[in-house]
Amino acid sequence: MPLFSTPAILLRRLDYGDFDLILTFLSLERGKISLIAKSAKKSTKRFAGILELFSLMEAVASTGKGRGLPVLQEATLISPFSTIRNDIRKTAYASYWCELLNKWVEENQKQASLYYLLKHALSQLDGGTSAAAEISIFFQMRLLNLSGYDPSLRQCGRCRKNLETIQSNQVVFDIAKGAILCDECTSGAGGRIRLSKGTIKQLLWVASGDLKKASRVRFGAQAIKESLEFLEAFVPYIMGLQPQSLKFLRQIRK
Ligand SMILES: [Zn+2]
Repeated sequence: MPLFSTPAILLRRLDYGDFDLILTFLSLERGKISLIAKSAKKSTKRFAGILELFSLMEAVASTGKGRGLPVLQEATLISPFSTIRNDIRKTAYASYWCELLNKWVEENQKQASLYYLLKHALSQLDGGTSAAAEISIFFQMRLLNLSGYDPSLRQCGRCRKNLETIQSNQVVFDIAKGAILCDECTSGAGGRIRLSKGTIKQLLWVASGDLKKASRVRFGAQAIKESLEFLEAFVPYIMGLQPQSLKFLRQIRK
């Protein structure tokens, strides 16, 4: 029975029959993995208090012989991130990030940078060192960057005019183009997202710095509002998703 062991963050839990759970993790060594935890619903001893959403654990699993899911043999808690689960607002943010990764990342493809991004974001959220909204801006900008979908924020997506030389203080972001548009290139159509130049500068800073530097950026209320509106439209668009957890997050924030 070949075994493997990896640090892993629990993204999703599903009941399987009366006794078992199917667990989806983002792991360091194997990317996204789904494991079956036998009798995890029934036995209170074996995985007591460990198999909670957002928890970081060392997971030991056996791959077995057949085509079935690997079986979770042991789980040792590394960080419970329990503050998140006790706070509905933090839970809403973490659920959104985990849903994005669960749907975006393919199974069994090592993606260490995404694992470290989620670990960092959950750790910040748990510790309360930054506002949840700011961590979410940071998380989504990094997710786009690591996935090769940086939004084009430095120049107009049509005529290439530089942000610095655009007259108005606010520009339109065209989701389908993945780029900002200058005043001349913005046709009158409504429903587009607007970003202030100041917000764009902060977003670029977040996208370029290292994890520690970027997480020290402080956004003002207006920049938070604009950034969240922009990212929560653009990220699902890029990923072709309608995240269920985003509806919940928006309700919580009202
Ligand atoms: Zn233009």
